[in-house]
Amino acid sequence: MHAEIISVGTELLLGHTVNTDTTFVARELSTLGIDLLYACTVGDNPERLRTALQDALSRSDIVITTGGLGPTGDDLTKETIAEVAGVPLVLHEESRQRIETYFKHRYCGENQYKQAYLPQGCTVFQNDCGTAPGCGVKNADGKILIMLPGPPSELVPMLQNHVMPYLAELSNAVLVSRMIRVFGIGEGAAEEKIADLTTGSNPTVATYAKENEMFVRVTAKAPSEEEAAALCEPLVREVCARLGDSVYGVDVESLEEVVVRLLAEKGLHLATAESCTGGLVAKRLTDISGASEVFSMGAVTYSNEIKSQLLGVPEDLFPAYGAVSEPVARAMAEGVQKKSGSELGLGITGLAGPNGGTPEKPVGLVHMALSDGKQTWVLRMPPVGQVKSREWVRDRAANYALDMVRRYLCGLPIE
Ligand code: ATP
Repeated sequence: MHAEIISVGTELLLGHTVNTDTTFVARELSTLGIDLLYACTVGDNPERLRTALQDALSRSDIVITTGGLGPTGDDLTKETIAEVAGVPLVLHEESRQRIETYFKHRYCGENQYKQAYLPQGCTVFQNDCGTAPGCGVKNADGKILIMLPGPPSELVPMLQNHVMPYLAELSNAVLVSRMIRVFGIGEGAAEEKIADLTTGSNPTVATYAKENEMFVRVTAKAPSEEEAAALCEPLVREVCARLGDSVYGVDVESLEEVVVRLLAEKGLHLATAESCTGGLVAKRLTDISGASEVFSMGAVTYSNEIKSQLLGVPEDLFPAYGAVSEPVARAMAEGVQKKSGSELGLGITGLAGPNGGTPEKPVGLVHMALSDGKQTWVLRMPPVGQVKSREWVRDRAANYALDMVRRYLCGLPIE
């Protein structure tokens, strides 16, 4: 089945709004195995929208529009679609009542009720987070036109809760995706290892690179969920076997989730002392529910004085090696481990940039250490050709630090 997306909104063409709706819809369609052929943007102009709709219908089975469903005069998507589909707009009583309830304690202009007029015979998608309902309507050729509201806060839940089940039924298939999360191996190297697995069509195996991380998605399509899951299983196992201990989880959200789970399983506690990451590791760990059981403290120790006073980093290390050095990272990890009384202490010191780099210590240099009170492991973050930004260095360093803890907890080589 072929689909295309038409985003409606002059603000998108003016560059005032980033078109995140298209990205989101495209991603969701791919999980259903619906091929997206085109995605275009038109302003709030009925003539041009009509032409875009007619073009789209001439080549695709499903046309999805985003935006232009609201109560204002320039919101003309619905009227234009009804006209192109050759059906009148009729009052949808349930939607009218929902709008009435929504505005119970607020002023409600007559134009709000315009949103309750929908193409005759359409499937209505309730808006759980706003007033404009979405809908799907068939034209005389059986092609499907789906209208979704523009605000992402309304579109995302509507798509996930109401439109995806509608589309899954149309495509007569169930899709199951498994996500293999990988850290510490480049996308190129990972692709090489699994290249022969990525040529199949069902299941499909695809690699994705995100900033500082990559993942492999295995997706199978079958008449039932059980069958689709069974198709995925051998490929998931094969990918994991080939990528080895770089795989930190399957169907998990993040490194921090895995670290919190492993700490809890082992009954251990972690404390962090961060310099260049400014508390990012602590933030990411405490984003995970249950972190209070395993995370004891996080200190952002930026100045040398505080590193010494709070963590007991020997003062003579700074003139001898500099604040961004392996001995300082080691002393930070050991210091926070002792100070907190936790089983594990993590120290991070580095140069996030963009200024302050030297030929010996370039921007992007980060030293980190993990201490368990008996032994301390140190790691210098692998250098890269081009450092992208301060945020990028910090994010990358937090990933390496979390992976260091994961590797310790899994009994894998760290340094
Ligand atoms: P409303 O009921 O708010 O009028 P609508 O369906 O009419 O919703 P628009 O008026 O087209 O939607 O857009 C409302 C807001 O939604 C925009 O100002 C913008 O912030 C956001 N928006 C619209 N289209 C997109 C898009 N494609 N991607 C991201 N945000 C969008």
